[in-house]
Amino acid sequence: MKPLEMADPGAQYRRLKVDVDAAVARVMASGRYILGPECETFETEMADYVGVGHALGCASGTDALQLALLAAGIGPGDEVITTPFTFGATAEAIRHCGGVPVFVDIDERTFNLDPERVEAAIGERTRAIVAVHLFGQPADMPALAGMAEKHGIDLIEDCAQSLGAEIGGRRTGAMGRAGCFSFFPSKNLGACGDGGLIVTGEERLAETVRMLRNHGQRPGDKVHEVVGYNSRLDELQAAILRVKLRHIEQFNGERRRAADCYRRRLRNSPLVLPFEDERGRHVYHQFTVLVPEGRREPIIQALHRRAIASAVYYPVPLHRQPAFQQHSPAEPLTVSERVARRCLSLPIFPGMTGEQIERVANCLLENV
Ligand SMILES: *Cc1c(COP(=O)(O)O)cnc(C)c1O
Repeated sequence: MKPLEMADPGAQYRRLKVDVDAAVARVMASGRYILGPECETFETEMADYVGVGHALGCASGTDALQLALLAAGIGPGDEVITTPFTFGATAEAIRHCGGVPVFVDIDERTFNLDPERVEAAIGERTRAIVAVHLFGQPADMPALAGMAEKHGIDLIEDCAQSLGAEIGGRRTGAMGRAGCFSFFPSKNLGACGDGGLIVTGEERLAETVRMLRNHGQRPGDKVHEVVGYNSRLDELQAAILRVKLRHIEQFNGERRRAADCYRRRLRNSPLVLPFEDERGRHVYHQFTVLVPEGRREPIIQALHRRAIASAVYYPVPLHRQPAFQQHSPAEPLTVSERVARRCLSLPIFPGMTGEQIERVANCLLENV
């Protein structure tokens, strides 16, 4: 049996090879490699896709978060509420601004911030909430946005896993003060290297990000107005991303169809399947199930014996990680810890066949 990997980023290139190769050749011949027309056009296309006024490319999703938080004015000592059940970059960005992450427990169904617990955690020093749309599942933005407004704090979206996801008729990235995207190769829209992007409806915030990403200079200016960074989306990546963005609806649709197929096959198993919020559209960056306590390791081994990859995202919540445990709250975050013990992500990617899903599902059904 051919090994089945978690994802197949190379397959997207093979499907779009003619157009991607032409885009690469165009940039190579142009002699413009940083901050040129490809990045600028991609920014316009992304702003239109997400449904916001402004988009700014940068070097990674991690930088997108940090630049957005800095531009929103997050600084030393500011408390920023976020989820412990996410990739470390979310909390890294908060720490690098001098902010203090306040980890709040998640909703067991969505794996995202639980709005009720968020509201209870808002205090004197809370300056912002960073909501993560984990695995492609939109966080409860209607509730979080209402809360941010009521308490006069910022809401920033970590959309690294959710490009194209929607809730309440709006795309993720369009509901917070800023939305932050990653184009890491395995993400729903993946570059052939690192890349990131910030979207915002606010012109002033966009101008601040534009300055911060390029050494604190305004375009065409040699004045370092603030201490900035070198964080740009290069022309090659932007040109490749422009080709892929034209197919994102197709690719996300294929992820959703693969998820449906898993759901039909696994409906009557003891596995807890991903929650589908009827207000929104999940884009299945991951298809993550909860397995019965104590069954994860044997299931992983059984899949492995049949050459099927699986992954645990995330085995240790951030408040238990050495880098962030000093920010561990007094109260235990029991839902995050239980989910971290039981979660298992299965292969999912555009172009995944019914046969491949069958293979995974059969092995699960026999071993759960
Ligand atoms: C991938 C990811 C990031 C970081 O993006 P990079 O482009 O790898 O820096 C941030 N947050 C989440 C939730 C991610 O999955």
